[in-house]
Amino acid sequence: MAGKSARQTHSRGDNMEKIEKIKTVCGICVDNCGMEIEKSGDKITKISGLKEHPFSKGKLCIRGMNALDIANSPSRIKKPLIKINGKLTETDWDDAINEVCRLLEKLKNDKGPQSLAVYFGDPIICQGLTLYLLRLFCYLYGTPNLCCTGSICNISKVMANMVTYGRWTSPHYEKTDYIILWGTNPLVSSLRTRNRLLEAKKRGAKITVIDPRITESVKIADKHIAPKPGTDGALALGMIKTIIEERIFDFDFVERYTVGFNEILALTGNISFEEIESLTGISADEIKALAREFAMIEKASIEQGSSLDQHTNGNQTVRAVAVLLSITGKIDREGCNVFLKVAPTSQPLTKDMPPLSTPPVGTKEHPIFTRYFRQAQAMTFPEYSEKKDSNQIRGLIVDGSNIALTWPNSAKTVNFLKGLDFLVTIDTVMSETAMLSDIVLPAAGFLERDELSIQQPLSLQRKVLQIGEAMADNLIWERIFDGLGLRDKIPWSNIEEGITYLLKPTGKTYYDLLESSLDESFHTPDIGKSLENGFPTKSGKIELSSSIFKETGYSPVPKFELPAEIPDKEYPFILTTGGRIPQFNHSQFRNIASLNKTNPIPSFEINPDDAEERGISNGDECYLSSRRGKIKVKAKVTDKIMKGVIHMLHGWSEANINLLTDIEARDPISGFPSLKSLSCRVDKIG
Ligand code: SF4
Repeated sequence: MAGKSARQTHSRGDNMEKIEKIKTVCGICVDNCGMEIEKSGDKITKISGLKEHPFSKGKLCIRGMNALDIANSPSRIKKPLIKINGKLTETDWDDAINEVCRLLEKLKNDKGPQSLAVYFGDPIICQGLTLYLLRLFCYLYGTPNLCCTGSICNISKVMANMVTYGRWTSPHYEKTDYIILWGTNPLVSSLRTRNRLLEAKKRGAKITVIDPRITESVKIADKHIAPKPGTDGALALGMIKTIIEERIFDFDFVERYTVGFNEILALTGNISFEEIESLTGISADEIKALAREFAMIEKASIEQGSSLDQHTNGNQTVRAVAVLLSITGKIDREGCNVFLKVAPTSQPLTKDMPPLSTPPVGTKEHPIFTRYFRQAQAMTFPEYSEKKDSNQIRGLIVDGSNIALTWPNSAKTVNFLKGLDFLVTIDTVMSETAMLSDIVLPAAGFLERDELSIQQPLSLQRKVLQIGEAMADNLIWERIFDGLGLRDKIPWSNIEEGITYLLKPTGKTYYDLLESSLDESFHTPDIGKSLENGFPTKSGKIELSSSIFKETGYSPVPKFELPAEIPDKEYPFILTTGGRIPQFNHSQFRNIASLNKTNPIPSFEINPDDAEERGISNGDECYLSSRRGKIKVKAKVTDKIMKGVIHMLHGWSEANINLLTDIEARDPISGFPSLKSLSCRVDKIG
């Protein structure tokens, strides 16, 4: 965006209609694509992709293109709501904020500050000001229980990378010759990765997809490997075993930059190819061919997706992938998996602020998770609530998430929410979580707020619209600070000052960002720095055998364990959930007419052979059930899903697949629940 002002005015046509062009970033998902808004007076006349954005390059997905329909959703909350006699009733902002503050003070006095948790969802992850305020609020209130969608998504694989090399890695798309998309479908799930992937393909890079489903990304791939859900760790071990036995690993790299190779040698010696074949459903020949191909191509890389870590064995699976990258020397080198520079922003939790005396909830069960990310593992909340344990969360503020529908085992989750002393929801729409709340605060969508997007490159999000009385999340939190007498703790008094404050470590100001984003200086690969200076791990090297896992009592090497639940006579199918389609973002947008045309009703995917055995045809109504619950839903018979596996999208309120998923069987390391390798049965109705 260099040299371009964020607001420009033009005239169009003979009547000299004034068109204002405003540059912003889309906030519907975490990609934060560059967007240009055209306005005539108060009216938005056009939304298009911002050509100069370094990652989205002028493109928007179908959700971004329909951002105005999303802003005008029929379920928008336009005024604050308070529950009176069991019914949510409209009120004004002063009343709503006063009541939130009264409840917060009462909870702190009666049950202690640690009884409060604040949970934020995807829309908040990239909002710099709001995140700063959330962290500062929790610290000042005295609760360690800030938490987010990271309890269920993404953070486990980041953690496995950090344990191994100290940082997250991703493919160097611009230079790589070979990419494995492992458990990810970027053609649908991420526009910025999609663009980089398609450019790499155009350059001649080969693509292999590892996924149990035939996804959109498979269509552009040179090879597709489909292991049974939950067995990717065994597949990775098979590749490691091949590479070690055939001595095609990078001897010099292993010797100079890693520790623990002998333990990996012992680990692969304990598993046979026959065992790996039977676990994964992939022949030993195919595994060996894939391993050779990956090891022998110098500039090869792996994109690690959520289908790797949303299992009870997920963290060690990502560790196995990290070992595979490391023994082949494909870390911190051009065209391989690299570390990206990230523009730093001011953070409220500095060493000047002493740690809170109580550890976050979930520390006992998942200590590395809470230590690395300084947040609670929210998947433990319902269990503590059921046990009425002293760790029980009694008050909850949910900002930008519909956890009643998106957390596993919705029945348990809803019980937890109903048992709270109070639930406050901040959201744009009347979600299932908002309906259960005592107070609902109407949040502004991304077109309605001024914010700093901390997705790279750092960019401004501009307010171009007002819907009802909705307010930006950062302003709502400022109102809560005001109500609690904490206003003087916020180190800014307006948006411009706030953004400049956050930008301090970059040496830039709000006004610099108004002129141009920081794309030229940040988010470029930091190639070779760790090889030269050492890795930010305890040993200073890549830890094939993890010292922190050993200290904590976990297997230091990525030993394969079966998923906690495997099919049996009663529940003969593997259930995998949470694939993506371009129109929806998790549970959102089901009622947006421009987005729900192709998928207006929920359905589950079943292989034609399985359907035939049960006399099920396309569109037949069935019961889908697990040990936790049962839903009525239509069948979609498709060969995109392998035999023996059922897949269903999450986020449908009328057929909520999370009634079947499990919040108690979790990955012991990350606390991630199993969303992608459970057991279920299918019964045709009638
Ligand atoms: S991928 Fe789509 S929804 Fe996400 S930021 Fe880009 S345009 Fe918006």
